[in-house]
Amino acid sequence: MNPRWNGQFSCFDLVAKTDRCTRTIVRVGDIEIGGNDFVVMAGPCAVESETQLLATAEAVGRAGARILRGGAYKPRSSPYSFQGLGVEGLKILRKAREETGLAIVTEVMSEEDVAVIAEYADIMQVGTRSMENFALLEALGQCGRPVLLKRGMTATLEEFLRSAQVIALAGNPNIILCERGIRTFETATRNTLDIAAVPVLKTVSHLPVIVDPSHAAGVRSLVPVLSRAAVVVGADGLLVEVHPNPERALSDGDQSLTFAEFRRMMTDLEPYLDLQREPHELRPQLLVVGGAD
Ligand code: PEP
Ligand code: MN
Repeated sequence: MNPRWNGQFSCFDLVAKTDRCTRTIVRVGDIEIGGNDFVVMAGPCAVESETQLLATAEAVGRAGARILRGGAYKPRSSPYSFQGLGVEGLKILRKAREETGLAIVTEVMSEEDVAVIAEYADIMQVGTRSMENFALLEALGQCGRPVLLKRGMTATLEEFLRSAQVIALAGNPNIILCERGIRTFETATRNTLDIAAVPVLKTVSHLPVIVDPSHAAGVRSLVPVLSRAAVVVGADGLLVEVHPNPERALSDGDQSLTFAEFRRMMTDLEPYLDLQREPHELRPQLLVVGGAD
């Protein structure tokens, strides 16, 4: 029987944790997401230029990120905002991978773009606005790349897992779930980080779960503390926005860290990561395990 959460919902079968399948490790080259490592993906919201992306790639790689993020196709809240560089952006991402060895995660907005983006990306990102674009999810079932599925900003966890099931059913079991904040009545932050989503998802599903503190917070000052929270609740990694000059960023500058802030955050995370690496019996009781039956 699939794990049920507290009588609320049952996890969809292909993504449910079972005795036979307790965790999925998504492999990208020698990177394992959902294994024992905590994997940080970092980079600008949008690829703006070669100079901007290469400088960011080098800085985040040196600070310990394993995967470079950067949107070439941008779903913007306004039709008048920068929409991304498209294929030119993908070429810049490829160059950054060649120069730094970082893997690439970038967003795909339409099923028509799946083939071209899969040529350049190591991980295909589905944004919050696309979580229920079922034509896109089905196309990603056959794309041959892992999928980073962001939670819809108004989606319940059951709906989130349903979208993961759609991708799995279409043939792709390599799915990374990403909690990125949800819409609530609170306006002090851009979204409300649903930190409980991490242990709930990890209890009912075998899929890796990462946290995007940048879009959750909307302001850079909260990103380091939310990242620590993600480590402590047992997330498998982070997706963080970093920009060489956030004041001049073409998108999401307010929530983007500078290189120095990112370096500092990575250093400050170390003791929390060490705590997670302790043998389980020495750890404080951090993960909720009793909610599912
Ligand atoms: C992003 O990662 O830049 C992005 C657009 O995120 P979200 O879909 O979570 O808003
Ligand atoms: Mn962004």
